[in-house]
Amino acid sequence: MKIQFLGAAKEVTGSCILIETRRSKFLLDCGQRQGQSAESSPEFQFNPGEIDFVILSHAHIDHSGLLPKLAAEGFDGEIYSTVATRDVAELLLEDSAKIQKEAESGVGLMPMFTEEDVALTMDKFSVYEWDVPIDASDDVTVTFLDAGHILGASISVIDISGAGRLVYTGDIGHGHSPIMNPPAKLNNTDFLIIESTYGAKRHPAVNPKESLKQIILDTYANKGKVLIPVFAVGRAQEVLYILKQLYEESELPNIPVYFDTPLGAETTSLYQYHQNYLRAQFRSSFLKGENPFHFGTLDFIRGNNRSLDVASSEEPCVVIAASGMLTGGRILNHLETTLEDPDSSLVFVGYQAEGTPGREILDGKKRVEIAGKEYDVKLKVHYIPGLSAHADADGLFSFVNSADILPKKIFVVHGEPENAEALQRRIINNLRIDTFVPEMGYTENFMDREVVKVVEKDVHLDFKPEFTKVGELEVYPFVGALLKKQDGIHLISKEQYIGILTETEEELETMLTKMTSKEGLEAETETETETAEPVEEISEAEFKKKLLKYADVGIFSRSRARELKNMLEKEGRDATIAHINKLARKDRLYPLDTTKQDELRRVLVAGINSFPQKARELFNEIVER
Ligand SMILES: [Zn+2]
Ligand SMILES: [Zn+2]
Repeated sequence: MKIQFLGAAKEVTGSCILIETRRSKFLLDCGQRQGQSAESSPEFQFNPGEIDFVILSHAHIDHSGLLPKLAAEGFDGEIYSTVATRDVAELLLEDSAKIQKEAESGVGLMPMFTEEDVALTMDKFSVYEWDVPIDASDDVTVTFLDAGHILGASISVIDISGAGRLVYTGDIGHGHSPIMNPPAKLNNTDFLIIESTYGAKRHPAVNPKESLKQIILDTYANKGKVLIPVFAVGRAQEVLYILKQLYEESELPNIPVYFDTPLGAETTSLYQYHQNYLRAQFRSSFLKGENPFHFGTLDFIRGNNRSLDVASSEEPCVVIAASGMLTGGRILNHLETTLEDPDSSLVFVGYQAEGTPGREILDGKKRVEIAGKEYDVKLKVHYIPGLSAHADADGLFSFVNSADILPKKIFVVHGEPENAEALQRRIINNLRIDTFVPEMGYTENFMDREVVKVVEKDVHLDFKPEFTKVGELEVYPFVGALLKKQDGIHLISKEQYIGILTETEEELETMLTKMTSKEGLEAETETETETAEPVEEISEAEFKKKLLKYADVGIFSRSRARELKNMLEKEGRDATIAHINKLARKDRLYPLDTTKQDELRRVLVAGINSFPQKARELFNEIVER
């Protein structure tokens, strides 16, 4: 196996890893980098037409966002994901195509992909539920497990013939979400590729519900607005769910809540449709016929004009809008009218990537440029960590530690250097596992270190093992050799191997003899004169039974059977018997055990003597087996 890191290496976005095995070439995710556009978009570092398939961990654009470009440039394999991931990805990719189209009409930029490319991409999905092994190719099997991150998100367990097991976490959740399950435990694996978004940070033990309630109450008292930037999938639903709880517990003032993201509204319906992916307590409200996201003062905004109206109104309210890092979307409508209002609040509930306006404001910058305009940041800035969809430093470490057998090698990705390296240090210091933070483009080649596990159909066991019970197990200990032939690899016993060795030696000797002196001829003649010893009687049935048994345990090899069959055909009965006797005299018929050798010799001689025709058929049968 060869692993090449083509994105999210020492950074958080653009997840893309290329894996090559002896028989397949595939990608783990194919995501956009933050701020990536057609102009800033480098070419793929591989030929998309050569990729056999893609394993998609989850729908977030930083994991799925270049799939349409991949399809448009010739990729024609399958995209494996969960059912929910496909459905969410469809919404997000269509939205991404639309945004690019709008950007293009504005400044004449070529989009990275179009809505047609998205349609082409969606046809390539091959979807499965969690815990179902998927035969992705001849030598790769994939099983998805619950990652607890967003709807449908998976940890991929990838079994590769000959190379061992590789686990790719994708993004993993922290386990305390009211909606998502805790992430699955780490399977025993040889290799692990783990995200590290919060590798250096600990989510403080704050109750996000309490924090959010307090911010809303304080802001409401000042007659300000509460802006909550979110991405359409994940946090948006968690925030809605918390607000619903607060509303139903009468903890909120009678303040309108605007959910100003049409895409978010659509993904929210997907959360309702795919309830089987979610926490049991959360699902139970569906079963009772309730809508877990709806409450009295909530208003889903559809059209942009309505959004602008709400933005320009002075009425205190809560606005949930995309995008989560203030890089676009309708949150910009609201920021324009609210950033300079000291009575209002901006509440970050998710990760803010470097280089985004969200990060600048969170880092305390007082003057920022958003969508081409400069603003003084006067509103109050809050950060509620408990709503992140990612595990924190402790969560990531305990995920690694949750396996019964620790991985041999770990790659830390999807984290800025400070976070990736903190996780790396913690793993090395505490678990002593070889752990590495790859750079963009880094390749690690395990091919030369692989154990060639040959698939069953190519392995031939050329002897019959006699198993004995050892406790619960059935065991046949043996010493043997592997023999490489055209039809695959044959596992042969020590006896068979020695048979081959002696035959080879004999062949050489015969050749030399024929090529040289009279001595050889004399020796041959001499041997033939020595065959006159009494021959035993044996029944045909017994001859067959004994010979097959010798063949089964490796005393009488297939190549010996072939040799004797040919000799019987060409040189006749007596010459063959003479040859057998000669072999036995030189301890070459079965060199390992002279008693068994003599038994074999006697059976062969008796059988060939009494029924040469039957003997020839029997040798043939052994050859053909
Ligand atoms: Zn994600
Ligand atoms: Zn991610």
